[in-house]
Amino acid sequence: MAHDPHALRALLGPEAALCRRALTGEAGVALPPFTDHHVHLHLIDETRLAPGGIAGVLDLGGDPVELARREPHGIPRVAYAGAFLTAPGGYPVGRPWAPASITREIADPSTHPGVPGGAATAVDEQAAFGASVIKVALNSTAGPVFDAATLEAVVTVARERRLPVIAHAEGEGMPQLALDGRVQGFAHTPFTGYVGRAFTAHAVAAGQVWISTLAIHRDDPQAAEFARVNLAGFAAAGGRVLYGTDLGNGDLPVGVNPDEVAALDRAGVRGAALVAAMADPWPSAERPAGVCTFVPGPPPLQLDDVADWLRGATVVPTEELIHDDL
Ligand SMILES: [Zn+2]
Repeated sequence: MAHDPHALRALLGPEAALCRRALTGEAGVALPPFTDHHVHLHLIDETRLAPGGIAGVLDLGGDPVELARREPHGIPRVAYAGAFLTAPGGYPVGRPWAPASITREIADPSTHPGVPGGAATAVDEQAAFGASVIKVALNSTAGPVFDAATLEAVVTVARERRLPVIAHAEGEGMPQLALDGRVQGFAHTPFTGYVGRAFTAHAVAAGQVWISTLAIHRDDPQAAEFARVNLAGFAAAGGRVLYGTDLGNGDLPVGVNPDEVAALDRAGVRGAALVAAMADPWPSAERPAGVCTFVPGPPPLQLDDVADWLRGATVVPTEELIHDDL
């Protein structure tokens, strides 16, 4: 029985605890605060994130000037990439949801600062506006992509600035280009084909993070299956999976996305591993402060119940919860 604290922690991870809200007496379960590792804040109503269970977000493509103006200590806590770095005319330049302020076209693999259209110039600009990751678009289905030298320049400069590089890799060979280019992670679990064991082993050994976004493939069952199998392999090999929804891309629920959670569960990221993927503070080392996740009602009793139960999550101040178990 998961009402037993030991069983609860076995099911949901070491920080799960039975608790009640001080003001209302409502009983439930406390978990560490959740982060959605792939959002676009300029396309959503962010006031609905915390009521929906999301305490932190990683914005993976927005206007660096607008993002830098944010109040830095609020909830949701926001980390961001700033603009998409892409090849001239590359994805997502010209998309209706992508104004010019959110893309930077790199025409020169220069690692020297201040070169117009240079790789270092684009990375330095995002860093100056407070980015904590760099996002590169490698989408060969929607336009030109970086050659290996330009990607190498971006990654080299970003590493010097201690900024991990996250790739949107889409199209034949793009995940391999990203992996060979030493990017630190994928903005979407690779979905163009099966990546295979050697690729997965290399990605895990390199310490990559894979942001799930499994539920964006609603209209493409084959891409959904490629992504599910690829993420299952990555997770089984010990890879670091991060919950992410690509929130802002189409009509997705703001807050914990039940479809994404269910898809992770089907990829074998279940129970405590699922909670860990949602509670991972990457790219920060610290979780959002002063808050935790609260799921009202009785706890789940078995592994099969966890994903659906998580749809009740909300963010509450830690001080508002009284812990029942020891
Ligand atoms: Zn996105």
